[in-house]
Amino acid sequence: MRKDWDTYFLDMAYMASTRSQCSRRHVGAVLVQGKKLLGAAYNGAPMGVPDCSEAGCMLVEEFELLNQGGDEQVVKKQRCIRTIHAEQNLLLFTDPKDREGSVVYVTDQPCWTCANMLANSGISEIVYHRPYPKDSDKVKSLMQQKGITFRCLEAYEPPQGTMAEVQH
Ligand SMILES: [Zn+2]
Ligand SMILES: [Zn+2]
Repeated sequence: MRKDWDTYFLDMAYMASTRSQCSRRHVGAVLVQGKKLLGAAYNGAPMGVPDCSEAGCMLVEEFELLNQGGDEQVVKKQRCIRTIHAEQNLLLFTDPKDREGSVVYVTDQPCWTCANMLANSGISEIVYHRPYPKDSDKVKSLMQQKGITFRCLEAYEPPQGTMAEVQH
């Protein structure tokens, strides 16, 4: 069966994510303009400095407020800050002219900082697969304010072997 465009480009984002060396998160993103692939990126350390596989993850601890069915809970979480996020790398390595009116396919729902940057990058649509509940509400409201289409492909299944086993 022929793959539809959403599946095709999200597959490519997952392919890009397999390049990531962070043991905590493998994220990939691609830039698409009129069905043409104009860039691909993944989360990683800046070029020329040791990445997570060489230097280990750079972990910080954060407290997160979780709300499950009206039940609020403070949970301690660890996050790796060594890497530049896939979406940010995508913005660093694509042309502003190419981004105007384009679509970003990304394996994971963008965090607040990435969403904020994407909102100011000229793109008109974001398609993602895995949810990221922590920043979801404020990210969705930002996209609404900016008129950026924000879609989750819930029924999507990544290509075999592209979903990394990660620690959380
Ligand atoms: Zn890492
Ligand atoms: Zn991010």
